[in-house]
Amino acid sequence: MARVRPGRISRFVAELRVEPGRKVRLPRDFDPSKTTRGVSRSEAKAILGQGIEYLAEYQARLAAQDDYGVLVCLQAMDAAGKDGAIRHVMSGVNPQGVEVHSFKVPSSEDLDHDYLWRYQKRLPERGHIGIFNRSYYEEVLVVRVHPQILEGQKIPAKLKDRGIWKRRYREINDWEHYLTDQGYRIVKIFLNVSKDEQRDRLVTRIDDAERNWKFSAADVTERRHWDAYQAAFADVLSNTSTPWAPWYVIPADNKPFARLAAGAVILDTLVKIDPRYPSVSAAARAAFADARVELLDGSATGSSLPRGTKRSRRRSSAS
Ligand code: AMP
Ligand code: MG
Repeated sequence: MARVRPGRISRFVAELRVEPGRKVRLPRDFDPSKTTRGVSRSEAKAILGQGIEYLAEYQARLAAQDDYGVLVCLQAMDAAGKDGAIRHVMSGVNPQGVEVHSFKVPSSEDLDHDYLWRYQKRLPERGHIGIFNRSYYEEVLVVRVHPQILEGQKIPAKLKDRGIWKRRYREINDWEHYLTDQGYRIVKIFLNVSKDEQRDRLVTRIDDAERNWKFSAADVTERRHWDAYQAAFADVLSNTSTPWAPWYVIPADNKPFARLAAGAVILDTLVKIDPRYPSVSAAARAAFADARVELLDGSATGSSLPRGTKRSRRRSSAS
């Protein structure tokens, strides 16, 4: 397979990264309809196809190396395209190396623990790519937009003061730093859809029979809180984009471009890990040779030689 050109991918994703410490304002700082100049929708699809092949190769190496793990956090407003991005971007990788978890309203068991507990339990194994479809960032997004959710959390009342959000940012940053020190790479993607595009997609879910199942009346009521969500997202981006776990804001009004960009961000992370198939020691290779002799020596087990195995090859490898 052709080599990835890491420089190109890096430059492309650098434009999407939120510089740590930057004060973000939404919607004015990021244009949801932005695409790469000169790349048409069909070209975006073609490039994604190539990127998917690279992703598969890198994921195989990540699994073989088996020490680093990758966590992808996907956050967005409803109908921004999280599900489609996961489906397309991960379509080429070995399912055994990927774990996807969708986080919904916490259960009573979840609420009986600290707020990071349920996310900690779902972290990917080393060698795997874990995708969080919604993540612990809901704890500073939906919980912030709806104060009654915080009221329902079982933390002591005096800890539900106004300083709670800054504390949660610090706790999340610290936790991500710890995970990074443990060999995890954390990729945080905000699929940034515009309010108009969200309206059009929700209307399509009503009008198109095949998409009816995706329509939820709750999405319409959540939409009433659009500005509060934008403010909460801006605060999250301003406070939790760190050198060890930066945020990427991906324009999401154009689906092919959004999928391409999400794939590029994940691929860039893997390229930087640069996982390799472990090399085998000389001693192990010598043991392989013995094993090969045994496998090809029909007399040991009474079985015949595998089809296509020449006697001469058998003799020469036994010598
Ligand atoms: P969906 O992803 O569209 O199936 O919806 C899942 C719902 O669960 C959304 O309305 C989220 O806001 C909600 N949700 C996810 N995480 C949390 C959380 N930590 N606390 C409260 N609600 C949550
Ligand atoms: Mg939904």
